[in-house]
Amino acid sequence: MSNHHITNDSTPLPPREGQGGGVLLFPGSFDPFTLGHADLVERALQLFDEVVIAVGINEQKAGWIPVEERVRAIRILYKEQARVRVESYSGLTTDFAHSIGAKVILRGVRSIKDFEYEMQMADVNRQLTGIDTVVLFADPRYASLSSSIVRELAHFGKDITAFLPEGYKASPPTPLSKGRGGSLRQ
Ligand code: ADP
Repeated sequence: MSNHHITNDSTPLPPREGQGGGVLLFPGSFDPFTLGHADLVERALQLFDEVVIAVGINEQKAGWIPVEERVRAIRILYKEQARVRVESYSGLTTDFAHSIGAKVILRGVRSIKDFEYEMQMADVNRQLTGIDTVVLFADPRYASLSSSIVRELAHFGKDITAFLPEGYKASPPTPLSKGRGGSLRQ
């Protein structure tokens, strides 16, 4: 006989906030941090105690917004949320995860293309380090939104504020004057 009875007892659900899931690392380029990223953070806060948003420093590519600027602007967005921290890091994401005591990495998936890439990364990371990855699927409202599309639109002088969190309006990050991308201030 199976152990898996469907029972009818009304065990109370655990509290919704945090859920005791520990520290979750959300690594990315966030160049810029968009509404799609913000949606993932909100949802992750329902599952984990603390979310560390970490801007990866890419030594090969300066990017559009300087890393310190990205960190500064994202910190302002979450200044009222004690369970969110914002950092930058260089090197391997799993090494950084270890250094902050995060056992889980968060990534978002919008499409099959994201799915294949994220599955490979998650697999390698878990096999090599034991650090697992949770994936949240993009909310349909943001499934076509990417930082690169936002940079492209800015480059051609379009208003990109509709794709960015409200909090950016007060203190948007300042992109590098050179390179691809225009100003965040429209
Ligand atoms: P990276 O260069 O590491 O992919 P990004 O800043 O582009 O950094 O993305 C960080 C994470 O957020 C990735 O897992 C990406 O798939 C996810 N992501 C990006 N945009 C969205 C979105 N609109 N909805 C859901 N997830 C997203």
